[in-house]
Amino acid sequence: MYASGAVGALCLLAVSAFSQAVCECNPADPATLEARQCSLCTEAEKQVSRGVFFLKDSSPRKPNRWLALPSGHLPGQHHLHELSAHERTALWTAAIAKAKELWGEEWGLAYNGPKVRTQCHTHIHMGKLLRMVETRNFITVSGPAQIPAPENEGIWVHPAGNKLHVHLGEQTTETVLMR
Ligand SMILES: [Zn+2]
Ligand SMILES: [Zn+2]
Ligand SMILES: [Zn+2]
Repeated sequence: MYASGAVGALCLLAVSAFSQAVCECNPADPATLEARQCSLCTEAEKQVSRGVFFLKDSSPRKPNRWLALPSGHLPGQHHLHELSAHERTALWTAAIAKAKELWGEEWGLAYNGPKVRTQCHTHIHMGKLLRMVETRNFITVSGPAQIPAPENEGIWVHPAGNKLHVHLGEQTTETVLMR
């Protein structure tokens, strides 16, 4: 019984991942935010002050995860590359500060690629970087303003001395973080 429930949940996820491609949420029309993939838009609407806000991941399977999100909306899929450079830098800067507060020098940030994102509203996963996840597919930058915003890739970031490693070229990135 539990097993079939799990399979059912997976199907739902697959459906929502597919339907996100045509997300038509519009914050001016609250009824359009009721779709499952728009629940983070509803959270953004609850924010009283503008700017970056943080949420604990609502999944009971990810008890150590947090999210960093801009309070503002973008049309449809809210892609990271559609934010202005200033907004993107503010988002990464706030996420790094919060992740450091949570995990010290073991912090990691992950933005899933457009093919696997299941929530439309822009969000960066924050968590503790798992050991042994290092790959060769990274660039080294000095700070958040230099983190690129490729259109079709996920991004994960972690500290490397006083610089940052920015890993590119993957879709599912949040798996480098402890659940
Ligand atoms: Zn939406
Ligand atoms: Zn939104
Ligand atoms: Zn690295």
